[in-house]
Amino acid sequence: MKSDVILSCENVSFQYETDKEEMKKAVREVSLTIEKGNFVAVLGRNGSGKSTLAKLLNGILVPQSGRVTAFGMDTAEEENLLPIRRRAGMVFQNPDNQLVSNLVEEDVAFGPENLGIPSDRIRSLVDEALETVGMKEFAKHSPHKLSGGQKQRIAIAGILAMKPECILFDESTAMLDPQGRREIMETILRLNRVEKMTVVLITHHMDEAVQADRVIVMEEGRVVRDGTPKEIFSDVPFLHAAGLDAPQVTELVHLLSEDPVLAERFRFPKGILDEKEAADFIFSLFGKE
Ligand code: ADP
Ligand code: MG
Repeated sequence: MKSDVILSCENVSFQYETDKEEMKKAVREVSLTIEKGNFVAVLGRNGSGKSTLAKLLNGILVPQSGRVTAFGMDTAEEENLLPIRRRAGMVFQNPDNQLVSNLVEEDVAFGPENLGIPSDRIRSLVDEALETVGMKEFAKHSPHKLSGGQKQRIAIAGILAMKPECILFDESTAMLDPQGRREIMETILRLNRVEKMTVVLITHHMDEAVQADRVIVMEEGRVVRDGTPKEIFSDVPFLHAAGLDAPQVTELVHLLSEDPVLAERFRFPKGILDEKEAADFIFSLFGKE
């Protein structure tokens, strides 16, 4: 079956005008495709080009060379920009910067209003979006009094109310406490697994990235790895060189496997991603299934 590509970059490079350094490109010769329904995590140290890539994918930025196609439309064509941005919404890091109104439901209605959708239809779009993020009972609240995680869920509802096919999250959990982070990850997983939404998740949290179908690693504007979480997290030395960690439990097993005496006695599996896999491995050392 032919997979359904919705976002594609062909040999894409981008340089900010304000960047004085001649040779410095934020994104260099990136080629990739993202298929409908996929959950893709993007990793890389600060300044590696993740945000720039995300903005190229939904037409906020347009490449100086190469081509970005979203839903079959070239982002370089001015008339494609609004439909592309509606179909590929973006959630940013700071929830406060994304709130525009004093009432949750007005905030969520802002996007569809700007699209000129009739008001009776907006009502149902807003209700549905708030329902999806589990914030329906807060419709009449002031967003400013909510927790970080709740605010971020309102920001997600604002995007959902425009009925996008894809959502790009640019470090959307970075400013949240553990509870808020959990709320957003649960929302993202539900959107992907239940609503079949395509998700691109830029994150510094490896426990979030392991939940994706696919992990892309960027360094100096280039995509340097692209694989399943297991493939990516199997190579701990590579991750460290790219300025990243593996999940804690992966790091632990890797550390043990570096000990020559232990490594000779036990065959340490590579790319253990979670506590359950690690526990199963340890049980197996004791001859337990
Ligand atoms: P990341 O999201 O991985 O931290 P960015 O895409 O934000 O990386 O940045 C990539 C490169 O582009 C960095 O060198 C950064 O300094 C530069 N850059 C990002 N935004 C701007 C901007 N608005 N103007 C000039 N340079 C920028
Ligand atoms: Mg960034």
